Amino acid sequence: MRRVSVFGATGSIGESTFDLMMRAGGAEAFHTVALTGGRNVSRLAEMARTLRAEVAVTAHDDCLPALRAALDGSGITAAAGPEALLEAADRPADWVMSAIVGAAGLAPGFRALRHGTTLALANKESLVTAGPLLMAEAARHGARILPVDSEHSAIFQALVGEDMAAVERIVLTASGGALRDWPLDKLAKATVAEALAHPNWSMGPRITIDSASMFNKALEVIETREYFGVAPEQIEVIIHPESIIHSMVGYRDGAIMAHLGVADMRHAIGYALNWPERGELPVARLDFAALGRLSFRAPDEARYPALRLAREVMAVRGQAGATFNAAKEIALDHFIGGEVGFADMAGIVEDTLAALSRETGLGNAPKSLQEVLAADARARALATGIATAVAARRAG
Ligand code: NAD
Ligand code: MG
Repeated sequence: MRRVSVFGATGSIGESTFDLMMRAGGAEAFHTVALTGGRNVSRLAEMARTLRAEVAVTAHDDCLPALRAALDGSGITAAAGPEALLEAADRPADWVMSAIVGAAGLAPGFRALRHGTTLALANKESLVTAGPLLMAEAARHGARILPVDSEHSAIFQALVGEDMAAVERIVLTASGGALRDWPLDKLAKATVAEALAHPNWSMGPRITIDSASMFNKALEVIETREYFGVAPEQIEVIIHPESIIHSMVGYRDGAIMAHLGVADMRHAIGYALNWPERGELPVARLDFAALGRLSFRAPDEARYPALRLAREVMAVRGQAGATFNAAKEIALDHFIGGEVGFADMAGIVEDTLAALSRETGLGNAPKSLQEVLAADARARALATGIATAVAARRAG
């Protein structure tokens, strides 16, 4: 039986992964090693019991008593905290889903690679913050990383049987998020609820807001550069409001290979789960006549400064990715908390990058996970100060 672990099992990607595992036979088809979650311990325990997991881990120490109680009599080990997440990643597994949100997902996925596992990578922050280290770690241990971000799964599938040397360009599609049709002057006043109303995809709250600001697409451009090893100028972004084409690869003969499907993450998760085969998936089928048309438009740089910042991050590389992501997470926390406006987020990230660039430079490539986490912590401290100042200006 295949040994499987799911990090971030209680989230949006985690639930879809669980759904596909259940449809494939659940505990009869998989030996579940570890499932992890956050404060939703009752759901975590329910999933662990259903799949008869070895261990269930909550990210929060104060949730451990509740998790223990919920698992009472099941024989499933309960654990809590970052160290327990690493311990769970050390348990041998053939397939590991990395679906914790944010930089918190980096260390467990990185650790799982040490055991030569196949890492299904939804946590894009891993490649943004530590791309070269992560790819090297996988190569060193004969592990494999399968992309689960829908765009990157699409690109991966469009590359099957092709030679990377024949790739001319990669076209990332973007829905444009919840606010894509808002006039520019109204954008600054967008509320959290408005940014959360994604037109096509149902996702966790943080990535949904990142879609509206295009910080999600910015992360994905960097993710593309790191995973596929193409040059930044080979990566294009196009707004495609219908989210039917999940991304495309253009070859030197002018041909374009695209992945099409409904906006359902089970496409990408299922591809990674069944890889290298294609299994049946419970996704709706496209009806082209009903669809009628697909449309495209160029992203407006004034509207989406995050895309420009992604270009700057790729030019510097080094610690710029970790800094960019950490500053974005802090800016997003402050937006969700109501302290800063929607349009303030890009400025906070830009100022953090500029300040750290002046202070120590960002070009030095981190040589270890510890150095990535140190860059992340430094950026968080600085971004918090900058965001607090922005909040004070708004309040006064
Ligand atoms: P989510 O918020 O729905 O779920 C996040 C999961 O991580 C939950 O299980 C939560 O308990 C856990 N978690 C949160 N903070 C944690 C911490 N500090 N330590 C340990 N665990 C923690 O998020 P999601 O939308 O499922 O996204 C997960 C990842 O997948 C993100 O990196 C996101 O960018 C990526 N992704 C998501 C989608 C999608 O459709 N949701 C698509 C592409 C990529
Ligand atoms: Mg995506």
